[in-house]
Amino acid sequence: MTTRQSRASRPEGCICVNCGDTVEGRANTRHRGPDIAWFAHCHPCAALVAEQVQPLGLLPGGGVDVYQCRSCGSLRVCRTGWRTRCHICLDERSAGLSLAAGARLLARLPDEPGLADRVRRFAGLADPEPVSIRAAAEFQAAIALGEELDRRRRDGWADLAGDVHGLPWYGERQAPFSHGTWGLHLRCDSWQRLRDRSCAQCPPEPEDRTFAALRDTPYLLYLVRHRGLLKFGVGGASRVRQHLRAGAQLVEVVEGRHADVIEAEAVLKRQKRAAGEPLRWWRTRRMPESFGAGTEVVRNGVRIRLGDYLRDGIDVTSRFTSAPGTTRDNAR
Ligand SMILES: [Zn+2]
Ligand SMILES: [Zn+2]
Ligand SMILES: [Zn+2]
Repeated sequence: MTTRQSRASRPEGCICVNCGDTVEGRANTRHRGPDIAWFAHCHPCAALVAEQVQPLGLLPGGGVDVYQCRSCGSLRVCRTGWRTRCHICLDERSAGLSLAAGARLLARLPDEPGLADRVRRFAGLADPEPVSIRAAAEFQAAIALGEELDRRRRDGWADLAGDVHGLPWYGERQAPFSHGTWGLHLRCDSWQRLRDRSCAQCPPEPEDRTFAALRDTPYLLYLVRHRGLLKFGVGGASRVRQHLRAGAQLVEVVEGRHADVIEAEAVLKRQKRAAGEPLRWWRTRRMPESFGAGTEVVRNGVRIRLGDYLRDGIDVTSRFTSAPGTTRDNAR
């Protein structure tokens, strides 16, 4: 985003955010590449990510769009015609300050084996393999993105997509402005900018609560199945029940601390992307509406055990299988 907004007056406006090389002049001129995702880039770094994300054409109005990373599948909102890049993926030119958040995380790993295990899982590394600083930085970015989106998560909405200023490089948000957080309201199947609690088109539901109000309550990581597809996600009990009402079968539900569940989701998203090729349209066409646009959906053959992602979590699957009309699906 931004071709014009980069603040050339600020010192970092003269440095490529990705590699640290000095750039000169206005954006997209001879000695400076186009600005991307709010930050100045050199030409070689800009060229590396020119095809990294693709517009999905999901949002009404045409002013902004949801872009999907071709590599990891994560979503980012940007103004149509502006340039953006993945919130998470760095590249072989990423260096210096753009990896500092990764270096800080890496320094913690020797003392925090559980965290090291999760970063390895995220990066698809076997146990003795060293974690690269880039993988650590990408993990940090994925967690930061998950926390940002979680603040806006609420019952009845799926596929939240936002725009976190400062990612993928800084490991946390750097400035409050963004192209907004958007989501799919499941009941009316419409994409909307999330401004307050309710859908602009539907009457309010008394049971709708923002998850900001639920931050300190236990949170659920769930896995459900429908017609040969698996869908994982996070949320409260009502989210799980919504899938069951839509005809999905329950596979597993694990309860954990809020932050742990968000982290587990970030790892799962990364891993499932690596595990299988993208779903073809005919597989997603008959998904129940509660599955949303299918960004957290994988083929049935992909083996997922939620307990592996949420080690301190409690299996609460039976809480949902005791209700009449629901059956636990054991055929993993
Ligand atoms: Zn550069
Ligand atoms: Zn990516
Ligand atoms: Zn609605």
